Amino acid sequence: VARHADDTASTAPNPAHREPVLKVALDTPLRRVFDYLPPAGDARHEWSRGIRIRVPFGRRQQVGVLVDVARQSELPQDKLRRALGVIDERPVYDAALLELLHWASDYYQHPLGNVLLGALPTLARAGAADQATITQWAVTADGAAAAVAGEPRRAPRQREMLQRLASGAMDEDELRDAFADWRGAARELMRRGFIASSERSGADPAGPPPAEARAGPPLSAEQQSAVQAVCAALGEYRSFLLRGITGSGKTEVYLHAAAATLRRGRQVLVLVPEIALTPQLVERFAQRFGVAPVVFHSALTDTQRLIAWRQCLSGRARIVLGTRSAVFAPLPAAGLIVIDEEHDPSFKQQQGGFRYSARDLALVRAHRLGIPVLLGSATPSLESLHNVAAGRHVALSLPRRAGGAEPPILRIIDLRGQTLRNRLAGATIEAITRHLAADGQVLVYLNRRGYAPTLVCSACGWIAPCTQCDARMTIHRADDRLRCHHCGAERPLLHQCPQCGYAVKPVGQGTERIEEALIEMFPQAPLVRLDRDMVRNQEDLTNAYARLHSGEARLLVGTQMVTKGHDFPGVTLVVVLNADQGLFSIDYRAAERLAQSLVQVAGRAGRGQRPGEVLIQTEHPEHPMLQTLLRGGYDGFARVALEERRSANWPPFVRLAALRASAPTLPPAIDFLRAARNLGAAIRRADGLDAVSLNGPAPASMARRADRYHAQLLVESASRPDLQRFLAQWVPGVEALPEARRVRFVLDVDPLEVF
Ligand code: ADP
Ligand code: ZN
Ligand code: ZN
Repeated sequence: VARHADDTASTAPNPAHREPVLKVALDTPLRRVFDYLPPAGDARHEWSRGIRIRVPFGRRQQVGVLVDVARQSELPQDKLRRALGVIDERPVYDAALLELLHWASDYYQHPLGNVLLGALPTLARAGAADQATITQWAVTADGAAAAVAGEPRRAPRQREMLQRLASGAMDEDELRDAFADWRGAARELMRRGFIASSERSGADPAGPPPAEARAGPPLSAEQQSAVQAVCAALGEYRSFLLRGITGSGKTEVYLHAAAATLRRGRQVLVLVPEIALTPQLVERFAQRFGVAPVVFHSALTDTQRLIAWRQCLSGRARIVLGTRSAVFAPLPAAGLIVIDEEHDPSFKQQQGGFRYSARDLALVRAHRLGIPVLLGSATPSLESLHNVAAGRHVALSLPRRAGGAEPPILRIIDLRGQTLRNRLAGATIEAITRHLAADGQVLVYLNRRGYAPTLVCSACGWIAPCTQCDARMTIHRADDRLRCHHCGAERPLLHQCPQCGYAVKPVGQGTERIEEALIEMFPQAPLVRLDRDMVRNQEDLTNAYARLHSGEARLLVGTQMVTKGHDFPGVTLVVVLNADQGLFSIDYRAAERLAQSLVQVAGRAGRGQRPGEVLIQTEHPEHPMLQTLLRGGYDGFARVALEERRSANWPPFVRLAALRASAPTLPPAIDFLRAARNLGAAIRRADGLDAVSLNGPAPASMARRADRYHAQLLVESASRPDLQRFLAQWVPGVEALPEARRVRFVLDVDPLEVF
């Protein structure tokens, strides 16, 4: 769609002397733009798309974005309201970003106004200037005379301020430093007409321009060829998939490609999955380039976010590093996009109405910009591997370890028929003892936080349920609470069965319980636990890493958290406590996730000189997924898994969209989805979209969650354009269904999970 081929729209000459009609997108769920006349007295002939405009909306004001200018409106000219004011001189999106946002609104079927305004920081959405302004105060002619006359006589503070201003204008910052409660005095002086303020644009605090890169280590041959491939593509679109486990030197490749991009005067965008990973990476970029990257993540304050955004928009930010939403940072001189850990599910927005994939949008953005994009991962998503096979991504790979250490030895521990001690098999205990004795560190991985996943009465069979969900409550011993991991509900831990009064007991294992058991079994080995209950902020994480890196801690127990990014060079043994969660999930993507976690966690072993050992405890040693993974590694697994997806018609071989609905009871959700399906069937017939099929509705596998009932309808097509064509017609109709009023619903295009 080339509707934004140029970014200004000329409305002159206008023989009819009619005023142009401004098409403004507003932050509303309505799928339309709104027509306004220019603000009173604004007779400009050129209107730039992407500027913010203040408009009346109902009885209130709103900040909207100009998306188009037309000669006429469907409304008669005398019914059109006037915009109140133009906020920006220049668009607040670069041209490619504006196009990307239009594309995203179409692709994800989300209202344009929400998408456009949602891409701005909160303060900019409310109208904050696109660059910092400094308010300056100076005396008027009256004020100068009054200062000479020693006025105002009875207000010493005002008099003092007037005297100071008479000898020279001052910025707000200077006034604040010089006078306590300066605003009160300034207000009075202004009321008397003695002083006046004016705005001038000023720069947000920014570091010095990038110094010449501090040299990193000399690159290996594989790193060099990866860097060369990316550098050769600077200035054109090409997508690369860089394979390499943690520690194999991917970041070095990013740094070199970034340096080359900066040398061409271009900006670099680096997307990472977690805030927890940013400090390390920020530090590394800062050291290499002598200037801290501009960062975007969810922990920024509104003001910090505004400042970061302004730096991007002005082009002063040379390196921009952030999580998912940073894909919307304005980058007028973008030259390279890097996506680290591209397989990570956090790149997909899974909440709210706009469920975009930052990775997919980054690819689209790079394509529009004509710049390279570099995806990195040890365990690429099956989609990306499929894209390599189809010739869409160029494959680059790094050998297993930068230091050349041996890959770890993987072993399956069959739990069947074994007597376990605290869920640990004899062979596992023996291995932990051996590695600790040899001064190695041991990592025990269990993807379940809390003490135990169930609280059970062995007399009557009662199990502590969540009252809001079809789920059990998890026991948290640290603060003696029961918590639901699905809705967050909690209550005090019970000791007696509420049904029969018998003593209840925890069943199953969580990280807290394993920690307790390991402390008891290996009292001489200091232990660190890494999970969301233990590590609540950056400082906790830094402390935990410090204890591990110094070698003081010998045992590490952790969830998923340990599989992300971090390097534990002293770890020689990894124990996967329970590989079986995930082996039998109904979600088509569960096997991929499990394989990624297993490979990522296994990759933590034996980073230093010593070879590592990985033990995977399971009740299902013959499970084909474990077997392919063991025999063929991640690549072998991926080949088999892609074949399975192909034969079962799952992505990436088909395109999916999920319409999800929830209501206080199940029937309204099902009724709505059924009506949506009937509507869809009619559209398919009318448009010959036979390749699109509708499956469902079906209740979610956990139907009741947070006291609402959830159900879904899946839309599937082998052809992406057909699916898009279908959705574009279907979604507005779905919104207009009478049944829609009784439910909450959301459309998820390319859903990560179907349940
Ligand atoms: P990844 O991003 O794949 O985890 P890094 O780039 O962080 O890998 O590299 C891991 C470690 O190895 C870092 O300490 C890095 O400085 C070092 N390293 C990377 N490449 C080389 C190299 N060519 N020579 C020596 N050390 C390297
Ligand atoms: Zn009981
Ligand atoms: Zn719950």
